[in-house]
Amino acid sequence: LYILGIETSCDETAVAIIKNGREIVANVVASQIESHKRFGGVVPEIASRHHVEQLTIVLEEALHQAKLEISDMDAIAVTEGPGLVGALLIGVNAAKALAFAHNIPLVAVHHIAGHIYANRLVKEMKFPLLALVVSGGHTELVYMKEHGHFEVIGETRDDAAGEAYDKVARVLNMPYPGGPHIDRLAQTGEPTLNLPRAWLEEGSYDFSFSGLKSAVINTVHNAEQRGEKIAPETLAASFQESVIDVLVTKTLKATKEYNVKQVLLAGGVAANKGLRTRLEQVFEDEDVELIIPPLYLCTDNAAMIAAAGSIFFEKGQRAELNLNANPGLDISIHNI
Ligand code: ATP
Ligand code: MG
Ligand code: FE
Repeated sequence: LYILGIETSCDETAVAIIKNGREIVANVVASQIESHKRFGGVVPEIASRHHVEQLTIVLEEALHQAKLEISDMDAIAVTEGPGLVGALLIGVNAAKALAFAHNIPLVAVHHIAGHIYANRLVKEMKFPLLALVVSGGHTELVYMKEHGHFEVIGETRDDAAGEAYDKVARVLNMPYPGGPHIDRLAQTGEPTLNLPRAWLEEGSYDFSFSGLKSAVINTVHNAEQRGEKIAPETLAASFQESVIDVLVTKTLKATKEYNVKQVLLAGGVAANKGLRTRLEQVFEDEDVELIIPPLYLCTDNAAMIAAAGSIFFEKGQRAELNLNANPGLDISIHNI
């Protein structure tokens, strides 16, 4: 069973082919980071234009890598949302055209369901499970009682974790996206600054990172006004410690309350060395299996979309040829 995945929700043009749900036979990602860098973030119009220019090339490269043709595919899985509407539309329209021209079933995938299913390319999932999703636009704890069933038990009330990383990095004059730079810098510093942690109400699995982001910015500006400078590695390490402390503590608490068999890490911030290391340490003593995907499956890719699409296809979920991009799509669309 071959599933072709197409992902264009943000600034990566990606096509992948997955065999039997779990085996990657092609995985091509064209990143646009260089084009957006000088603007300090993703420019939607530029993103759409790049997707138009790159998608056919990336598709051909994926088929070439797999030594397969479109007609060999059993289904085409595409990211329906959430994301930038103009960017999503390029992938959705390409998927519809291929599905129509070759008479292949079309499957619509929620981008975050994709991030979660990246883990199935590492190891078979065991239910019930908990996924910690940390990306550029999302920070949430997702409970899954079975395949294709997603329950968000907590989410950010303001900034996503990746967004906080990128905004703090900007204050430290680092290029976009700042997450990897802060991560690297944090390895060389000590978390000696006392920065806030937003635990929110007792029992809540929600997150909040805007207060932390403001605290970092204020700390930098107050020091400047005193004519002092705080070492960037100290800032990076302290900020990262605060983020990791809240993420890991809440994940561990939910793991116990929901009595899950597995904990999955998902999303671009899953590439964070500090977060990966801390989760491994904390879960070593727990009676639950922790899965952390390799870096290339953490940031946006189409292998994860095809992996999720494989399951939804097997569950009988089909998209019509009038499928539209949905920038505000809810992950519960997959729940039956
Ligand atoms: P979403 O998945 O929510 O729609 P997105 O697709 O734009 O958003 P991803 O590509 O999943 O986001 O992740 C990108 C984010 O991951 C950026 O904010 C980036 O800074 C962050 N990131 C990448 N590597 C690291 C790292 N090592 N440490 C911290 N953050 C990182
Ligand atoms: Mg991206
Ligand atoms: Fe993403």
